[in-house]
Amino acid sequence: MAIEDDVVVVGGGIAGMATALSAAREGAQVRLLSHKESTLRHASGLIDVLGYADGLVADPFEAISGLPEEHPYRTVGEEGIRDGLDLLDSVTDYAGGHTDRNALVPTFGGRIKPTARYPKTSASGLASDDRDSLLVGFETVVDFDAPLAAERLSADVPFDARGVTVAFLGDFRTDARITRLAHALDENERIERTRNGISTSLPARTALAERVKPHLGDAERVGFPAMLGEERPGEVIASLEAELGADVFEVPMGPPSLPGMRLETAFHDALKDEGVRTTSGNPVVDFEGGDELEAVVVERNGAEIPFYGDQFVLATGGLVGKGIDSTRERVSEPIFDCHVPAPEDRYDWSDPEAFGEHSFARFGVETDDELRVLDADGEPEFDNLRAAGGVLGGYDFAAEKSGSGVSLSTGVVAGRIASEQVNVNP
Ligand SMILES: Cc1cc2nc3c(=O)[nH]c(=O)nc-3n(C[C@H](O)[C@H](O)[C@H](O)COP(=O)(O)OP(=O)(O)OC[C@H]3O[C@@H](n4cnc5c(N)ncnc54)[C@H](O)[C@@H]3O)c2cc1C
Repeated sequence: MAIEDDVVVVGGGIAGMATALSAAREGAQVRLLSHKESTLRHASGLIDVLGYADGLVADPFEAISGLPEEHPYRTVGEEGIRDGLDLLDSVTDYAGGHTDRNALVPTFGGRIKPTARYPKTSASGLASDDRDSLLVGFETVVDFDAPLAAERLSADVPFDARGVTVAFLGDFRTDARITRLAHALDENERIERTRNGISTSLPARTALAERVKPHLGDAERVGFPAMLGEERPGEVIASLEAELGADVFEVPMGPPSLPGMRLETAFHDALKDEGVRTTSGNPVVDFEGGDELEAVVVERNGAEIPFYGDQFVLATGGLVGKGIDSTRERVSEPIFDCHVPAPEDRYDWSDPEAFGEHSFARFGVETDDELRVLDADGEPEFDNLRAAGGVLGGYDFAAEKSGSGVSLSTGVVAGRIASEQVNVNP
């Protein structure tokens, strides 16, 4: 029997998940097809809407009208961005929704990141809070050099930041795997230690607090790399706060990013609750249809399986997620071969200056104001194919700090319109 759904979403990153949730909440029967892990696992877990546009942005909503016409935010507008953030807020317990202004969150490199939403576990660390901070790194977690991060941070903030590197606990001293350490804190595993030939054991959270106490000084808050539990970071933080008598926060990290993984889990739970059918682990490689798409084709163990639908949304990510591909000759969208505008001369794809304006950073498909993907003549590639997230062109997520905001807002809007269009032309 043919597999058939109202809305078929291709791509399981934050854009695809937002699209699927949005369409399902509008009443559609939704199928989410995804190949590999999304960039969420590499990203910090922060939800950036717009951090930079001709300098630091204080209020992203005020800056939208100044963005270029082709920017996805100009398509979905302020309402789309707010709807995207509302969807996020319905799925997570992130903080930041009390204001439109960007929060300033310290990063593991000791820089400050303007962002719209952040995990509650990072809330006590904001740079706008003037309480003195201690940053704690671990010898085995080499990506976070706490003394260096604190030194850099101190240069930019109105409080004193100190950093210290401690050995982790018991046997974990040689175990650098962040997830292993996080699990020990989640479970509050007992940690063995031997001193003067005598072995004792302490619960992991107490053992960690004991390591930090001698360094606390006047610090009123203590920041750790974001590894304070995979599943129960709130509980771990509450225990550490009770032991230390100071607020505790997580500093967002690079891959593997536990906040990114927690965010992904929260979305997966919400998709399940909404009855979205998820098929993952295999790529969409082809399609069926003419002016209207009829099916996308998934390759599984050498077999080609069509997934039929009424409406389709492409959310396969940008150059990083492989939603956009590039060779020496051309830039392309690999599933439907949708038009991807790019300068003819490859030497114009990047700027000779490392921090210059690289046009490759904006590569992606173009859409109309209903997010339908357009061909080279500005006509819809298919009447029922829309796009969301990193596969869209016209913005540079890394320079602007706008990645998740674009994915959420275009996902919500694409999902809603796709759902509204189901069976409009039966
Ligand atoms: C290192 C890094 C750090 C970042 N940090 C931040 C940050 O701190 N804050 C922020 O807001 N943004 C950040 N971003 C940007 C943000 O992660 C992305 O803009 C956003 O996640 C893009 O989401 P997406 O769903 O469009 O694409 P992706 O996350 O790339 O997901 C695309 C999905 O589509 C799937 N897919 C691709 N091709 C196929 C196919 N043929 N068939 C089936 N499935 C397919 C992929 O397997 C993947 O699951 C960061 C990005 C990177 C790379």
